[in-house]
Amino acid sequence: MPHANEEVIELSVVVPMHNEQEVVGRFFQRIFPILEELLLQWEVVAIDDGSTNGTWKALHDIKQMHGNVRAVRLSRNFGKEIALTAGLDHAKGEAIVFIDADLQDPPELISEFVKHYRQGYQNVYGVRVDRHQDSVFKRTTASLFYRTFNLVSATQTPPHGGDFRLLGPDAASALRACREKNRFMKGLYSWTGFPSVAVPYERPARPKGKSSFGVVRLWNLALDGLVSHSSTMLKIWT
Ligand code: UDP
Ligand code: MG
Repeated sequence: MPHANEEVIELSVVVPMHNEQEVVGRFFQRIFPILEELLLQWEVVAIDDGSTNGTWKALHDIKQMHGNVRAVRLSRNFGKEIALTAGLDHAKGEAIVFIDADLQDPPELISEFVKHYRQGYQNVYGVRVDRHQDSVFKRTTASLFYRTFNLVSATQTPPHGGDFRLLGPDAASALRACREKNRFMKGLYSWTGFPSVAVPYERPARPKGKSSFGVVRLWNLALDGLVSHSSTMLKIWT
């Protein structure tokens, strides 16, 4: 419960960052006017996920200038799933938006997310209309993964969705209750079961910096997803 003279924050934008010093400035430059136009009380919660470059310094400077930016620094690099979870735990807003720092998730979509949320949706997620920015390898393996995942998991996860989404208070608190260490967020969003709606968008290329997700990391994430959402693999072994 907020204190009597503490204002209610309606929207928290959670942005995980791992070595994003090259994009921090342009991320905030682009998102601030969009958030101002929403006419609601907002905050940005930036999570520095164990960056080893100037990301924290850049975040610190922005925080000094803008009262509604908060920054949390994790002790080491935990990976995006945990960074998002830390953001969810620190966020004070009623609704939460997860967005990437590299502007591959167009911030302009947030106003559309909010419209759907106001109509009663608890899970408003972006879906990529085409994946031509991804390599053939990534597209093929992603499609194979989602087919396998949806075959063995009790809850279905949309194949071209990412973490870019808005979670209403009910979905956010259900997700906060999930405390597993090895987690697959994309599976958990659907698992919470609340009314969901997809918003299509075109995903641009990363303007600067480089992706943290190489083959090994994607493989490990896929395995975490499969074993945490289904006992099929365990049953095969036994
Ligand atoms: N990220 C993070 N921790 C990590 C890896 C990535 O917080 O260990 C953040 C990253 O800074 C970005 C988002 O997760 O905001 C998506 O990462 P990236 O752009 O590398 O992934 P891709 O778009 O290639 O899937
Ligand atoms: Mg990216």
